[in-house]
Amino acid sequence: MRRIAIIGSGQAGLLAAHALLKAGYEVTLYSDRTPEQWLHESRPTGTATRFDLSLQFEYELGLKSWENDAPWSDGAHMTLCPAPGNRLLTLAGRLRRPSLSIDLRLQSHAWMLDMVSRGGKLEIESVTVERLDQIAAENDLTLVAAGRAELCRIFERDAERSVFDKPQRHLAMVCVKGPPMGFDGIPLLPVKNNTVGGVGETLFVPYFHKDVGASWNLVLEALPGGPMDRFQGARSGEQVLELAKQVVREFMPWDYDWLKNAELSDPLGWLVGKFAPTVRKPVGRLPSGRLVTPIGDTAMALDPIAGQGANNGNKMVRNLVECVIAHGDRPFDAQWMTETFERFYARHGHPTYTYTNMVLAGPTPAGREYLFAQYGSDARFDNTSGQQRLADAFVENLNDPALLTPILQDRRKTHEFIEKTTGRSWIRSVAAGAMGVAWEEFRQWRGLEPRHPLVAEIKIAA
Ligand SMILES: Cc1cc2nc3c(=O)[nH]c(=O)nc-3n(C[C@H](O)[C@H](O)[C@H](O)COP(=O)(O)OP(=O)(O)OC[C@H]3O[C@@H](n4cnc5c(N)ncnc54)[C@H](O)[C@@H]3O)c2cc1C
Repeated sequence: MRRIAIIGSGQAGLLAAHALLKAGYEVTLYSDRTPEQWLHESRPTGTATRFDLSLQFEYELGLKSWENDAPWSDGAHMTLCPAPGNRLLTLAGRLRRPSLSIDLRLQSHAWMLDMVSRGGKLEIESVTVERLDQIAAENDLTLVAAGRAELCRIFERDAERSVFDKPQRHLAMVCVKGPPMGFDGIPLLPVKNNTVGGVGETLFVPYFHKDVGASWNLVLEALPGGPMDRFQGARSGEQVLELAKQVVREFMPWDYDWLKNAELSDPLGWLVGKFAPTVRKPVGRLPSGRLVTPIGDTAMALDPIAGQGANNGNKMVRNLVECVIAHGDRPFDAQWMTETFERFYARHGHPTYTYTNMVLAGPTPAGREYLFAQYGSDARFDNTSGQQRLADAFVENLNDPALLTPILQDRRKTHEFIEKTTGRSWIRSVAAGAMGVAWEEFRQWRGLEPRHPLVAEIKIAA
């Protein structure tokens, strides 16, 4: 039986361990913490909202997902403000199938124990490069799933693919309880996004917390040096939550009532940090010359703004396991590692990375037209309008960024897509949306609250 070693007990490492065990390989997983340490002494490494394509892989492997207890999210609601104080438009779209965000501490704890009960070997140690070399000598293939920790440096940064060399956002995350599981006037349980030009973004994510169950996870994406960039010095979850409330009160006051009574879910449920989004080369050469290959964040570290890191890791692992099986008894050499990664990158990695970078950069000209054309979406079940179909497609791109990302980079393709989806000329769609938006801009200019979305109310002729 071929032997495979995996370093890291996060989302990517554990998923790979289960998939390879199922395929009949002898698997040893190296983790710098025990299952109990994951549950009681760790920080969550991210929010890790997973969409249907990723979740399906987990279900195929029979992995526990708390799906009967966790709050499923049906879609997304977005408020776009080009500048503080200007609520330009909203988008509310439904996913074809809902998403799930499980506390990674609970998940790693359970998936590690399940891995052992399914015949996997678990070694608790913090693996050094020297030790990695020994492990690689004892195994047919060694996968490094160590996230963004030190070991990722074995893999050279792919300078051609890595668009950024510095962090694009200064990040904070905190697990909270208290806010209601929903928002007034929004007929679905959304991941709620506020984007404020020159400031940053907030994401409020329905979340299954290890102790309090159904609750929320707040992700704060501050533009470096901007007015929201105040989290990096925080030393406790209470501080992060207090700062989050301040930021929402100042820049997204429409959500302040919802958040103001939130409390910390647990003392370790928070993060602050920053990193440059990076794509790494898929072959790592150890001092002895032996080769190892990366998965998950070690291979591609994405800014969380579009909720793609863990999803990308799932897709990468599925691809890798298919390639391992297809390779039979042949050696896992540099050519195999490269071809395996390229197969994944073409189908998923490139669109996912491009999509995330598009969200970081703000809408393209085609993206702006698309946002106007969908204006009027409200995610109600009885809304079968063209605007709603555009908003739903926008949100479905979270599940598979290859669907809409290439279209939004090209105005002609965007216009064609708008026409195909709405059944009317793109100019009429964009103009109708722009009229609704302009009306509400006028209201705001007069000092009144905007009433997004408006298009349905003023019944612009199609
Ligand atoms: C604030 C935030 C929000 C996010 N939101 C989303 C989202 O909504 N959707 C989404 O898809 N993604 C999201 N992500 C990204 C997602 O959380 C990560 O992509 C994913 O958790 C990475 O999993 P991983 O297994 O690759 O790495 P990690 O989760 O970092 O796991 C690596 C593991 O390796 C272990 N390890 C490291 N070094 C060693 C060593 N030397 N020896 C032994 N063990 C070692 C670590 O302890 C850790 O357990 C978010 C990230 C952040 C920061």
